[in-house]
Amino acid sequence: MNPDKKCVQCEYFVQAGADENIGECHRYAPHSGALDPTSMLKAKGIDIQTSVYWPKVDINTGCGEFEPKAP
Ligand code: SF4
Repeated sequence: MNPDKKCVQCEYFVQAGADENIGECHRYAPHSGALDPTSMLKAKGIDIQTSVYWPKVDINTGCGEFEPKAP
């Protein structure tokens, strides 16, 4: 991973919660996750309430969607 492209330096990173090493990735809309069991039940026609979330990321990780923060 490029050390200059960490989540903490990314436009889509949002600090959230008490742990300063963890934040949220807001690159895409919040979602329930592909393997969320509530989503699988809903797909089978079982109507239950589903929660959605922003993916949690470590400040020192990064991904191919990295965008530098706007100045
Ligand atoms: S580097 Fe990737 S995972 Fe990290 S905040 Fe940016 S888009 Fe999200």
